[in-house]
Amino acid sequence: MHETSIVNSIIKTLEMEFEEEKLNTMIAIYLKVGKLSNIEPRLLHNAYTAKYPCGTKFHKVKLHIESTDIKIQCETCNHITEVENYRFLCEKCEKPSKNLIQGEEMLIHKVEFDD
Ligand SMILES: [Zn+2]
Repeated sequence: MHETSIVNSIIKTLEMEFEEEKLNTMIAIYLKVGKLSNIEPRLLHNAYTAKYPCGTKFHKVKLHIESTDIKIQCETCNHITEVENYRFLCEKCEKPSKNLIQGEEMLIHKVEFDD
């Protein structure tokens, strides 16, 4: 259900951004999904296919989902660390940090049209 509402909000965002005529030629949507966003790419694909089965408007649109790494910025030394194995530690000064700068987001990165 969670994924279905995400699909709805993606399409809603695109409908606000582009003219209907343009959207009818859309062939691909590129998403960036943070590893902490609780969005499962596979479920998002399923939700998309369920909403736009064969014969519907956006059926031919390919959904590309890239999962983005978790990054924190240290409050002490400002160093940016890529978090691995959920170790929220600054790699420079080794202080724990929860200051997330990437990893929770869901962004529409790019949209492709058939021109
Ligand atoms: Zn640090």
